[in-house]
Amino acid sequence: MLHDAIIVGGSFAGLSAAIQLARARRRILLVDSGQPRNRFARSSHGFFGQDGESPAAILAHARKQLLAYPTVQFVDGLASHARKVDRAFEITLATGENHKASRLILATGVVDELADLPGLRERWGTTVLHCHYCHGYEVASRRLGLLATSERSLQAALLLPDWSDDVILFTNGVLTPTDDQLAALRARGVRVEPAAVEALLGPSPAITGVKLRDGRSVPLDALFTGSRTRMASPLAEQLGCAFDDGPTGPYIRTDASKQTTVPGVYAAGDAARANHNASWASADGVTAGISAHQSLVLPQPACGG
Ligand SMILES: Cc1cc2nc3c(=O)[nH]c(=O)nc-3n(C[C@H](O)[C@H](O)[C@H](O)COP(=O)(O)OP(=O)(O)OC[C@H]3O[C@@H](n4cnc5c(N)ncnc54)[C@H](O)[C@@H]3O)c2cc1C
Repeated sequence: MLHDAIIVGGSFAGLSAAIQLARARRRILLVDSGQPRNRFARSSHGFFGQDGESPAAILAHARKQLLAYPTVQFVDGLASHARKVDRAFEITLATGENHKASRLILATGVVDELADLPGLRERWGTTVLHCHYCHGYEVASRRLGLLATSERSLQAALLLPDWSDDVILFTNGVLTPTDDQLAALRARGVRVEPAAVEALLGPSPAITGVKLRDGRSVPLDALFTGSRTRMASPLAEQLGCAFDDGPTGPYIRTDASKQTTVPGVYAAGDAARANHNASWASADGVTAGISAHQSLVLPQPACGG
């Protein structure tokens, strides 16, 4: 059977793309391996109408609504290969099963690579937090640390005092602020600690502080830090899609309609944008879904409602 579209990735971006095609009564196949990026967090914040819900509950609800459409097929599994075959696209699942479609939407997300620091990984999403917009409110007015991972951490350090007046930036050998930057941090009330961080303290997933390499420890209630990101799936590379460099890692290049550099292949969500959150992923999924649908009908899709 030739599907109208296969969507790989069934989280914020993939489900948002899929429902547009389902509502256009197109035959679609959604493949998902069940590893959304925010699965480590107990609750998701800032997503319209779902603030504070668990990521699993949001996705389960959206998937249930999608599967009510009769033209939707869902496969719980991993797509391991994708290729262009004549005028269609074929994906191969880890089980060896093949599926074909006229359009392909990649909504496969990214994987976070964290600093190699004892105690960091097991607290990721609970007391080690990646984003003040997503999780800052819940730790407001507490003792907050920021572990620098790149020049970008400076910007985060300047913003964090909006959530607490007790903020300490651990430069950790990654950042050497200039005198002007130090003055800006001081003006925002941010303390700067140059000694390297050796480990996180406290009964995980709680955090009570960090231990510095010089033997001192600093008490904390939460630690913010960034990650490097990499593609969660090799499918875009297998298809020959071009990539751009983002501040945290590479992402799939798309045009305004979310079509990649390979005609007929669309990409949405964290895998196809520089900055990440669930709302942006979902919005891009809507664009990809509508664009893919219009491309099945119109010679020059306009992507609009
Ligand atoms: C700890 C943490 C907490 C966060 N909290 C928030 C928050 O509170 N609010 C917010 O707005 N954002 C938050 N984010 C960001 C948010 O998680 C992402 O922006 C969002 O999940 C991106 O959605 P996506 O659909 O692009 O990718 P993902 O949600 O990562 O989903 C990708 C899906 O594709 C599947 N997949 C990948 N490869 C394949 C394959 N080859 N075959 C089949 N399936 C595949 C995966 O299993 C996964 O289900 C958080 C991120 C982290 C790390």
